[in-house]
Amino acid sequence: MSQDLTREEHLAAIKKADREYYELDDPVLADEEYDALRRDYIDKYGAEDLNYVPGGATGDFDKFTHPSPVTSLSKWTKGVDDEADLVKKVEELWPVVIQPKFDGLTVVAYPNADGSCRFVTRGLGGRIGEVLPNFIREYEGPGVNKSGYAVRGEVYITQENFAKMNEELMAHGDEPMKNMRNAAAGLLRRKERSPYVDYLSYVCYELPGEDVTPQEARQIISSHTEFKVTSMQELASPNSALEEIEAYYDALKLQNTIPIDGIVVKSGQRNSLEKFGFTAHHPRNGFAYKALSEKFVTVVRDVIWQMGRRKATPVAIVDPVEIDGATVTRASLHNAAMIKELGLSIGATVEIHKANEIIPQITKVLEPGDTEITLAVCPSCGEPLEEINGQQFCNNPACDERIAQDIAFVGSKDVLNIDGLSIETARKMVAYWKEQYAAVKPTYTILFSFTAEMLAKLEGFAEKSAEKLYNSITAASQDVELPRFIKALCLPGIGTDVGKILADRFGSIEEINQVIAEAEEPQAMLQEINGIGPKTAEMLTSNKFSMAVNMLQRHVTIAPYAKQEAPAGEYAGKVFVLTGKMAKPRSFYVELIEAAGGKEGKSVSSKTDYLVIQDVNSTSAKAKKAREVGTQLISPEELENMLL
Ligand SMILES: [Zn+2]
Repeated sequence: MSQDLTREEHLAAIKKADREYYELDDPVLADEEYDALRRDYIDKYGAEDLNYVPGGATGDFDKFTHPSPVTSLSKWTKGVDDEADLVKKVEELWPVVIQPKFDGLTVVAYPNADGSCRFVTRGLGGRIGEVLPNFIREYEGPGVNKSGYAVRGEVYITQENFAKMNEELMAHGDEPMKNMRNAAAGLLRRKERSPYVDYLSYVCYELPGEDVTPQEARQIISSHTEFKVTSMQELASPNSALEEIEAYYDALKLQNTIPIDGIVVKSGQRNSLEKFGFTAHHPRNGFAYKALSEKFVTVVRDVIWQMGRRKATPVAIVDPVEIDGATVTRASLHNAAMIKELGLSIGATVEIHKANEIIPQITKVLEPGDTEITLAVCPSCGEPLEEINGQQFCNNPACDERIAQDIAFVGSKDVLNIDGLSIETARKMVAYWKEQYAAVKPTYTILFSFTAEMLAKLEGFAEKSAEKLYNSITAASQDVELPRFIKALCLPGIGTDVGKILADRFGSIEEINQVIAEAEEPQAMLQEINGIGPKTAEMLTSNKFSMAVNMLQRHVTIAPYAKQEAPAGEYAGKVFVLTGKMAKPRSFYVELIEAAGGKEGKSVSSKTDYLVIQDVNSTSAKAKKAREVGTQLISPEELENMLL
């Protein structure tokens, strides 16, 4: 697919896929298509532009510089790379052990004096990670890592817990998570502890920077820490290496309990790090075996649309195919943009593929079909849907499904945590309300107007169960934490973190209102807060926000909140403008700046703190302007030294 692209388009396609995968939890490309895209790029243009780590530090959490870089292994891909090469590599590294390669989030546990740990992500280039504010409860507290070593492991979610979590999310009207790998990152990279963090597992396998054998690392981890340690197998002979690796991989795949995306192959020699050294990016004392995941061919018979809280998501109904012992009849399409990108129509013969996802995705159209896929109206209310960035939304505030989804959202664990309030119950509440109170248009706050008697009239409820739900609603509406209250407003753009950010900064709704009322430029003031963008600032200063607050305050009381401001780094909020040609890709420097809490500015003004320019003595217009307004001129090398 990359042959027809220009260099810029090709690079942009890779970055888009990075963003979809790491930031949006919404991957459009299959893993091997992504790998192929990168491989083709490197073949044509070299690896320099790709010298960044996708999903690097985001600037939201405290940074931590790894004393030894957290390295990644080079890959050997079955069906792409030469099999003789694999045998040769194994011979060099002999004796060799193999371990599962988990498809999760890499986290290093740095021990404190009391054996409690600081848990840090891999981050930018494996050098600067983020300190996770929350971790799996089992491993929080003292005495967990008494080894004295930093221990590297992988956080992942089991197939079973993934299904359980998604069931709960859907029962509350939330969208299920699509990808097991992203579940770990998505749950841990939140300021506020998600109730699902404890569904995650952590398994360890390495002591970063220590030149010990895999067996020694395993021994230290299992006897001096509370962490689980990965399984391991020694290979019998270099000549049967590929067979042995594949048998090991197949056995793990067959168990189908943990997400793996390959096999780690490591030298069991003493001092192997010193002996084999490093390439530019990878240690040479091991590599990762990757298998292309299997593909299946089927025919698309229909496309149905499932309504989430706002978004309509397309799902393809396909002719049944057997995959991993299960009959598959649905394939995920993610959004309307993907339908367009694939050129999909009903009747099309397609290739589908299943990685570590519950429902497989369509990766390619082999033969076009005959019927165009259309969606003009909301499947619930019949109003036209609005397309924003390739996604379809129902923006009708009177849409029954939307109201029901909001009710279930407010009841979910992350918001008011109302025990026993499912999406089905929410739908019944909306239907009952419309039947009984035709004159009063329902909104999600009808939830708080239901009495036990009213609930008892809903289908499937008896006096006792109605009483119980009524009591949970009443209890959940008292002394609500401020971040949860803000989330419960059900306003677009006021998502997971905004409530927490506002609460930490202002401490109360009254304070938020007052500060907004008194600010000369309230939107600009709000945007100076890290994590608040222009759309959110606009929403917070709108009538819609104050009306939603008033409405919810009639039903819900807020508990006092202790505000706290996060300590800011030296470069937090500083504005950097980059200009001219530089030794490394621009994106590399931008990521460094953002990781340090700084911002990239587009043009030089009195608000610019630094102009990054190769020749600091340049007489270009930008450089002159910078000197005029007192902006400091620094070279990219100085920038690196400053921020790394
Ligand atoms: Zn609708």
